[in-house]
Amino acid sequence: MLFERQHFLVAGLSRSGIASAEYLRAHGARVSLYDDVDDETVRKAVENLTALGCVNIAKEELEERSGGCDVLVLSPGIPIDHPLPVAFKRAGKRVLGETELAALALRCPCIAVTGTNGKTTTVTMLEGIFREAGKKALACGNVGRPMTSCIEELGEDGVAIAEISSFQLETLVSLRPHVAVLLNITEDHLNRHYTFENYIYLKSRLLKNSTESEYAVLNYDDPVVRSVAERCKAQIVWFSLAERTADAFLADGYLCFRGEKVCLADDLPVEGDHNLMNALAAVCAAKLFGLSNEVIERGFKSFRGVKHRLQTIGEVGGVRFIDDSKATNVDSAVKAIGSVKGESVLLVGGKDKGYSYEPLFDAVKSSHVVHTVIYGENAFRILNAALKRGYTAVTLCRPFDLAVRVAYLTAKPGQNVLLSPASASFDTFRSYEERGERFCALMETLQAEDAPAGQSAPEPEREEEDGAE
Ligand code: ADP
Repeated sequence: MLFERQHFLVAGLSRSGIASAEYLRAHGARVSLYDDVDDETVRKAVENLTALGCVNIAKEELEERSGGCDVLVLSPGIPIDHPLPVAFKRAGKRVLGETELAALALRCPCIAVTGTNGKTTTVTMLEGIFREAGKKALACGNVGRPMTSCIEELGEDGVAIAEISSFQLETLVSLRPHVAVLLNITEDHLNRHYTFENYIYLKSRLLKNSTESEYAVLNYDDPVVRSVAERCKAQIVWFSLAERTADAFLADGYLCFRGEKVCLADDLPVEGDHNLMNALAAVCAAKLFGLSNEVIERGFKSFRGVKHRLQTIGEVGGVRFIDDSKATNVDSAVKAIGSVKGESVLLVGGKDKGYSYEPLFDAVKSSHVVHTVIYGENAFRILNAALKRGYTAVTLCRPFDLAVRVAYLTAKPGQNVLLSPASASFDTFRSYEERGERFCALMETLQAEDAPAGQSAPEPEREEEDGAE
């Protein structure tokens, strides 16, 4: 694409929009900017980008001035059926995302990871493994660092380890990853993609450009992923916990690849079968790049988990607090319930995304969850699902802060308070990170209240900042 001959409109000035505008300006394009939010963050972005020669378009001028732009770069936060992309498409103009811009320019091999859950965990594991191997590897994309901002650093000999969300897949057409990883597909984001079928279709788009020269690392245990595999032209590499005939599998406590023991499952410092599946997917990708078992083992041993994913943050009066704020859909909460050791009081709720919560209560009923505190905007939908499944050990308490306190008061010493919301955070918070931080702050308040007079509360365990919604 000859950037300097084109006039781009970058819509949505979050991290990826800013990176797109910077990238395009650096490559000589004419760039206009638009965001319908007018807050401090956007104002700062506009100020920085106009200094680079971009031109900002105000809301009232958008219709008139966007007509003069050739290509729309759409933020993943803006749906593809929003009037702005629809107008561009009707005029026969291109609509693409920041990931597509990166795909057009990337010069090094790419491992692209998608799936409903486990993307950030898997790309973070992979980045650690590739770094152990001395490779120039960067986790990028939906994990937080925009792909366009990595292109120069990666050059020709790096490895892009890209996390790709369904929102990004709406505008991604050119990416042909050397290794495409599809972790799992369960119901999520139906408020954006309307139907589960459409969501499956979007996830399958990661594989659509692959040929026999590329690899697809696929979850054998997920029937939806298996159905997608039928149309895949790449060489398929299966991972499975259920089937030892898969390429990567678990046997005698070892993660194995094609009959060879790679490393002990206990080398992984994170819990749960879902994390074993993420690790098996990572093993496949690493082995396809020829990395040694020793390197993979060292990579896993140095992995510290990712913040807000099943993270024990501290204890109050013998009650352990577990922050799984990133469990923003039913399947991730189900996995949390199945992984956490000991009895738990579960906290669920937030912003609805259009799927059924009934499978959550099927899992709760056969788990170590002793009680569920339901909070948030979708509290009554969740309560209905619980009652439909004949589960009544619930307290409904809509404000988040109060719900956390109620969960704590309900839990007995030795039990956990598990925040695994099965919902987005946007009813009350700006992000799942903010929700997790709030949970942590509330725990600290409870610690201070619990501490004997004159004694300060213990410092909670904290991990490094990482990851993005
Ligand atoms: P993503 O980037 O796809 O959102 P994360 O690695 O950030 O995935 O994890 C999101 C949530 O899903 C966390 O609650 C985590 O414990 C859970 N999770 C991680 N891996 C899996 C998996 N393979 N299957 C189901 N849930 C998972």
